[in-house]
This record gives sequence, structure tokens and C-alpha cells, in this order.
Amino acid sequence: MNKIDYLRLSLIDKCNFRCQYCMPEAVKLSYILPKELLTNEEIVILLKKVFIPLGFTKFRLTGGEPLLRPQLEHLVRNIANLPETEDLALTTNGFFLANMAQSLYDAGLKRINISLDSLDPETFNQIIGSGNSSRWQQTWQGILTAYEVGFNPLKLNVVIIPGVNDTEILDLAALTIKRHWHIRFIEFMPIGNGELFTEKTWIPSEDIRQQIRSEFGLVASNVKGNGPADVFKIPHAKGTLGFISQMSECFCDRCNRVRLSADGWLRPCLLNESGQIDLKTSLRQGVGFEVLKTQVQQLLQLKPEINFKQRDSGTDTGFYTRTMSQIGG
Ligand code: SAM
Ligand code: SF4
Repeated sequence: MNKIDYLRLSLIDKCNFRCQYCMPEAVKLSYILPKELLTNEEIVILLKKVFIPLGFTKFRLTGGEPLLRPQLEHLVRNIANLPETEDLALTTNGFFLANMAQSLYDAGLKRINISLDSLDPETFNQIIGSGNSSRWQQTWQGILTAYEVGFNPLKLNVVIIPGVNDTEILDLAALTIKRHWHIRFIEFMPIGNGELFTEKTWIPSEDIRQQIRSEFGLVASNVKGNGPADVFKIPHAKGTLGFISQMSECFCDRCNRVRLSADGWLRPCLLNESGQIDLKTSLRQGVGFEVLKTQVQQLLQLKPEINFKQRDSGTDTGFYTRTMSQIGG
């Protein structure tokens, strides 16, 4: 069994974008009430008393849009200062980064993933559901600022949607030639966007690789991350190209992570909610940390079975009803 030492923490389910594959406008969302969100203090106490004693050392802050979380820098500092924290990363849409990158870096955040699905402002707006032409520019500025303040490696997440941004695969891949940036192509998943998703709305990673291979060449890279990406590079490029192929190439057997939702549900698998536990309610009811640890440990033991059940049946209802922003991407 894999060592499970990586916790993805969703800090908020709200977002300032409505990406069509994540929070489609057509889907009516209800948001977690502020009093139901885990507080910063509750997050830190859960890490200290439950997750770290169970061997967790790697944490990623996500959402919804984590930069919307009040007092984010304070939370980052508190997690970064825990002596056991080996890795603290954040995934963001980048829109607020131009103003926040320096303070997050100073607070102890060292790694960042920024989502950028298009280099064209109009296509970008089409994807994020916006009519405001300055949004791409502001996001791009956020990426440049993050790199300037020292986030390295800087990873850009890209979801390719046929007919929307698939003509940009080569331009996006080419960003790695002269920059130490890592582009990660994530296969589009049918999570919370059942109406939109069809066999034609996702492209297998191998098709994307093939395009890049024909144009620039592609070799396996020796840079490996914590996660499920298969990493390649264009020969002599400074950066790398990662492929996260959860649709075409199941990597459940390599999975080393669990997810804590913004309202305190611990979920064993992105695609399956079986076995989830409500840590926030237990914590607020005064359930002891030893009991919480035992519950989490039981969930970790069940995890491989849960992953493979999802893979083999592909039928868990949570797979289709919750959006990525609600689960914590
Ligand atoms: N708002 C932040 C952002 O966009 O980076 C963090 C949360 S977002 C849910 C995390 C990642 O999930 C993003 O890179 C996004 O592209 C990806 N994502 C969201 N919905 C997806 C889907 N249906 N299929 C594949 N990736 C998805
Ligand atoms: Fe927001 Fe990120 Fe989802 Fe886009 S992918 S709607 S930026 S949470």
C-alpha cells in the first residue's frame, strides 16, 4: 500500500471565475455557509493533532479559489512553521496573485500551481465565463509576479477542451522552451459538469503528447513531482511538460493523497465519497484527538479499496454531482 502523506485542503468553495468545466454557469451552486467553514485555528489543530501524527508532511491549499480565503497569509505562515511540514503548495487561478504573491512567499509558501487554459484573452474569457477583457492580462501578470518573487518550480495547469482551446496546445507547450515553467495538461473530467461532458469534450493525454512530439520532439524528463503527472520535456527546453491522465490512464495505485473539504469532510478519493468522515463536527463536539486519529487511520486503510472500486465501476454518484470547486481540486 502507498504511503499516504499528502493532504489537499480546500479553503473555500467559492470562486471569482466560473470555468465551464468546473463551475458551469448552468449549474446552480449552493455555497458552504461561513460558519460551516473550518476556521484557520481548526485547520492548524487538525494538522498538528491528527494528520501530522499519522505521518502527513505534504499539504496543498486549494478550493474554489483559495486566494479568496480571508487571512490566507496567516494560515500559510502557521502551516509553514509547523516543524513537520515538508512541502506546502497552493493551487490558484492566479487572478489575485499580482498583489498577493510576495506576501504568500514571505509567509512560507514555496510552491504554486496556476491554472491557465489559454493564451488568448477572448478564449480565456469564454472558458472562465467572463466578459471582462482585462481578466487574462491580470492573470498573466499574476503568473509573472509569482515567478519574479521566487516561486520555483512554477507550474501552470491546463485543461484542454476540443473546439475551445485545443488549437493552443503547441503554443502552451512552447512556453517551457525558454522559461523554467512546468506546464501540466490535465485531462478534462466529468465532475459536476455532466451536461457538458461527452466523449468529445476530452482529449487523451497521448493525443496531446503526439501533437507536441511531432512539432518539437518529446523526451521523458527526470524531474518527478509528488503527484500523478507523467513528466516529459521538449529536447533542450528549460521547463517540463506534465500529463495528468486520470481518464485515460488510471493512476489509483500511485495515489498518495486524501482531501479535506472546506467544511471539514475528509474524503479518501477525488472520485468517490464512500467512507468520508466529518472531522469538523467531531472537532466542534469535543471528540478527542485519539478518536479522530483512529477514524482517519481507518479511512486510510480503506482508501485503496475505495479507489479501485471507483475505477472499476465508474458509478459513484458524487462523481457526477459535485463540482471540482466543491470537492477541492
Ligand atoms: N481555483 C483554483 C484553480 O483554478 O487553480 C484551484 C481550484 S481548481 C478546482 C483546481 C484544478 O482543478 C484547476 O487546475 C482546474 O483546472 C482543475 N479542474 C477543475 N475542474 C476540472 C475538471 N472537470 N476536469 C479536470 N480538471 C479540472
Ligand atoms: Fe474557479 Fe478554479 Fe474552478 Fe476555475 S477551476 S471555476 S478558477 S475553482
